[in-house]
Amino acid sequence: MKDLKILVVGGGIGGLTSAIALRRAGFTVAIVEKDPDWSVYGVGIIQQANVIRAMSDLGVVDDYIDAGFGFDSVEIYIPTGQQVATIPSPRLVPGYPANLGIGRRALHRVLGDRALTAGATIRLGVTVTGLEDDGSGLDVAFSDGTTDRYDVVIGADGLYSQIREHVAPDAPAPAFVGQGVWRYNFPRPADVTALCAYDGAIGVGLVPLSDTLMYMYVTTPEPENRRYPRSGLAAAMRGKLEGQPPRIAALVDQINDDDAVVYKPLEWIMLEGPWHRGRVVLLGDAVHATTPHLGQGAGMAIEDSIVLADELLQQDDPESAFTAFRARRIDRCRYIVEKSKAISFGQTGQGPRVDQSKMTHEMFELTARPI
Ligand SMILES: Cc1cc2nc3c(=O)[nH]c(=O)nc-3n(C[C@H](O)[C@H](O)[C@H](O)COP(=O)(O)OP(=O)(O)OC[C@H]3O[C@@H](n4cnc5c(N)ncnc54)[C@H](O)[C@@H]3O)c2cc1C
Repeated sequence: MKDLKILVVGGGIGGLTSAIALRRAGFTVAIVEKDPDWSVYGVGIIQQANVIRAMSDLGVVDDYIDAGFGFDSVEIYIPTGQQVATIPSPRLVPGYPANLGIGRRALHRVLGDRALTAGATIRLGVTVTGLEDDGSGLDVAFSDGTTDRYDVVIGADGLYSQIREHVAPDAPAPAFVGQGVWRYNFPRPADVTALCAYDGAIGVGLVPLSDTLMYMYVTTPEPENRRYPRSGLAAAMRGKLEGQPPRIAALVDQINDDDAVVYKPLEWIMLEGPWHRGRVVLLGDAVHATTPHLGQGAGMAIEDSIVLADELLQQDDPESAFTAFRARRIDRCRYIVEKSKAISFGQTGQGPRVDQSKMTHEMFELTARPI
């Protein structure tokens, strides 16, 4: 299958790493991204050792590390502000840190630039309006009125995937967990040199992103799944931070720009049935979206893209590659979704409280295994 012509639907994290991995395998790759501005919100993301290994496999690790802030442990604090644990995380790529905090826009730039220089094409403001699979290829119609024929279509179009409706029309809708997360960027104080996680009914984390920048996340119970208007968002976030320890409280006054607050209700989905139909396959959040409690959602999407490209190279036909891809990925992705959900439910009283240090240790161990 050396000459496959592949359409990737979605130019987010998983779509871009797919494009890079597929180009490295020698396939022809076109991406369509429905957002005409290809915009990404301005806070950050935590990535762990398995993701740094994946970036090394993709050949982008130096640009990627340069764009973020590396660190080798996670600091755990209790709500009083006392530090109770430092969890060392294993380095999987010699000479590179175990974890990286990176701005989402910085990550997007690294991956977008590499996908394009590797020879993928991208059309912005375009989506798929029709898919006809005749068994030997796919005729695809696009929202800009054009049509084209492909050997394979990859749905990397996120939590509310349109391509999932083609692959698994009976899939359950994404489910809300009763929690939301608030994020905000700050200048990085010199003592924030690792992920600092404050466990409690309101979870707070400080994540270094560069020499000068960090972001704060705050997870809050949101049983009614309230929609917060943009106007007043900063005051609403400040209100969620009452009673926090001095290090967090000292930052609260800086939260004053409604447009810089990123609030999201937390949702998950896990497709237990097939991840493909005919020549169309799903990856990333389209097939297994997790709450962020283990900081591994994007990591799973990135690993997916490497495994999928590998199986397309190794197998004799797309459907065998898709079946092998799912078999290699489903247990690890399900683990991340289920354990993240368990932490969330423990925090909101919907399930037993989870020892987050122990769970983080276990997750490091599991994700260190080869993909
Ligand atoms: C609050 C929060 C915090 C998180 N923090 C972390 C973290 O610290 N670490 C981590 O690893 N993960 C984290 N994640 C998870 C991570 O953001 C996702 O797992 C990751 O973005 C999934 O990548 P994806 O490419 O599958 O989907 P996305 O990143 O959502 O990309 C999908 C892309 O497809 C495009 N698209 C959608 N529909 C169409 C269509 N019909 N046609 C064309 N294009 C389309 C979208 O515009 C988008 O560009 C977090 C998630 C949340 C909600």
